[in-house]
Order: sequence, then structure tokens, then C-alpha cells
Amino acid sequence: MTEIDDLNNVNRLNYLQLFKKFYASNVQINVDSIGQREFGVGIDKKINFRHKSFSTQREFQQFLSNETPRFVSHSVGRFEFPWVQPMEKKTLLSADLIFDLDSKPEEGHNQAFCHNCVDKTRGDTIKLVEDFLLRDFGLSQSDLLIVFSGSKGFHVHVRAASVQQLSSASRRLLVDYITGHELTVDNLVTKRGIGNRATTLHGPSESTTGWRAEFLNCALAYLNNPFELQKKKENYLKAHLADVVHLLKNGNWDFFHGSEEVLQLILEKTIQTHGVQVDSPVTFDVHRLIRVPGTLHGDTGFLAKPLSMASLSNFDATRDATVFKGKTKITLPSSLALKFDNESLELLIGENEVPLSLAVLLTCRGMV
Ligand SMILES: [Zn+2]
Repeated sequence: MTEIDDLNNVNRLNYLQLFKKFYASNVQINVDSIGQREFGVGIDKKINFRHKSFSTQREFQQFLSNETPRFVSHSVGRFEFPWVQPMEKKTLLSADLIFDLDSKPEEGHNQAFCHNCVDKTRGDTIKLVEDFLLRDFGLSQSDLLIVFSGSKGFHVHVRAASVQQLSSASRRLLVDYITGHELTVDNLVTKRGIGNRATTLHGPSESTTGWRAEFLNCALAYLNNPFELQKKKENYLKAHLADVVHLLKNGNWDFFHGSEEVLQLILEKTIQTHGVQVDSPVTFDVHRLIRVPGTLHGDTGFLAKPLSMASLSNFDATRDATVFKGKTKITLPSSLALKFDNESLELLIGENEVPLSLAVLLTCRGMV
């Protein structure tokens, strides 16, 4: 009996039989550089055992159909000896750059599956990919693997050669850039000139990109709808709006001279609307494990599904990440309303016939 069997004997539920069938079917789970990855598997938590390795795809899939863990993760790094302990002896060769976007469970939200939370995280993922990875970092779509996490969020794996050797500190800088947390007004607007009278404020112009462009856009929006501004300045702005806008677009931010607290508010608004919150340790820790794309998530039974940008834009996990077909009967201890696979379901206390994938979700969640 293996170590995993031990835990399975305590925790094995029917849905694990369905997981087993799924892994034993013809499904192809392709792991990039499989022989150089460390694997971790979990039964009663995300990871119970790590430092595992597989030399071939076939060996890995046989393990999944034989042992059927609830969670399967692999290292973001590639190692010379992925099975060796401690970490230092594995010898890191390269590491993908990973971004983890998640939503936290909140009271009052649907406990089975909250479409609102996943949709918000989906929007953030699109922003991360389009505004930061593709536009600001200059990566191309073929460098990225976008994956539904299988639960409430999304993972973006950057596999470009240019990121493979980045240090942990460099990865941290990329996260700081994406969240915008380290930005200050002084980074964006500088004082030029000698003495007070000659001082001019020099800021982003229309030709800038990235955060500077976002800050300029936010400032332009502010000029059309100002608040917290001295009466005198507000009147001046009313009379000279076109001039102020023109100067600002050319990098002359003198209008805000003496109103630094307004610039701070504009910066906060910029960060709030443009920044993307990612789980930073996942990005900078090159020894992390991340869910294997194409495997099932033990808290939902959903597939950790790789997605194209097009499929991400209208992705619905309850329709697009389900793998179990057919219907089954479940007994609910309380009523439940949920949109599942485009259908608005109103389930009542007691026996209900539901899609098998929904039955798995509710079982995994401990709701039946
Ligand atoms: Zn929610």
C-alpha cells in the first residue's frame, strides 16, 4: 500500500472513482518538460506529498489513474534532479514565470460557485495579459499558457525563453510593476527649474506608454470632473479647460502645481483601475508548485483547463470546464439556487436530479 492509499482509505468518496475513470480514459495531459518537473499531489489538502517525478507522459497518466489524488501540481521550475531533497540539491535549470489570480470566498456569495467572483478574476486576467504581458512586457500570445485554476481563479504560465533565468528579485519587480503598489507621484511627475518661481511640473505626455499613459488618462478624466480642488483653480479650469488639457498632453503639468494632494488622489485612482492584484509569492518563488493544466481540481471536480484568449473572454466554468456527462440524483440538506451550464437551477431540500458535474461540485464542496 502506498502512502497515498492510506489517506484515500479515509477520504475516498465516489467522486474519486469518477476522477479515476477520467484519468483512465483517452484524455491527454501534456506536461511541458515532464522529466525535469517536480510533482506534488494532495488528498486532504492541496499538497500532501511532493518531490515526485515522472520520466514519461505515460508513467504520469498511469499514476493518475492508479492513485487518483484530488490535487496534482508540478514545479514552475525545471530541475536536473527533480526527485532529490532538499530543494538546493535538485539543481534549478530554468523556471517559467507564473501569475496566480484568485478570488477569496466571501460571505453572502454563492458557496457552491460564485460566477461574479470568477468573472471579476477573469477580467483581471484579461487585463494582465493584454495590458502588461503583451503590451508592456512585449511578450507574444504564443509565449503564454492561460489556464482556469479549476476553482475560483486563473493561472498564466509564461514559457518564453527570455523569462526562464529571471531571479526571484526580478520576478518580484515584475509583480510590483503589475500591482502598481510601489508607484509614487514623484516617480511620475518631476519638478524642473531653478527656484520656486521658475519651477515647472513635468509629467507624462501623450507619447508615453504603460503606467505613465494610464496616469495621464486618469488626470485627463479628472480635469473633466474635478474634485477636492481649490475654488480659484476650479474657476480657472472652467475657463481654460482646453488649454490645460493641451499642456498636459504635452507633458506640462503646471496646472497641478501646489495641488500635490490631488495628484496623489489621481494616482490612487490609476492604481485602483489599472493595477492587477496577483498572489505575489507564486510569482517570485521559483520553488513553487502549480496545478497541472488538464487535471481535475479536488474542491470542484472542474478541469484546470487551458484557454485561448478568445475562449477566456466568454469562459464559464460550469459550462466549459466540466468533464462528467449525464445526470444523477443527490439529496440536499438545504435549498440552493445556481446558474449551471447556462441553466438557472432552483434546487430544493431533499432529492434533486442534477447534472453529474454539479453533483461532483457539491460533493467536493461538502454541500451534500
Ligand atoms: Zn463572489
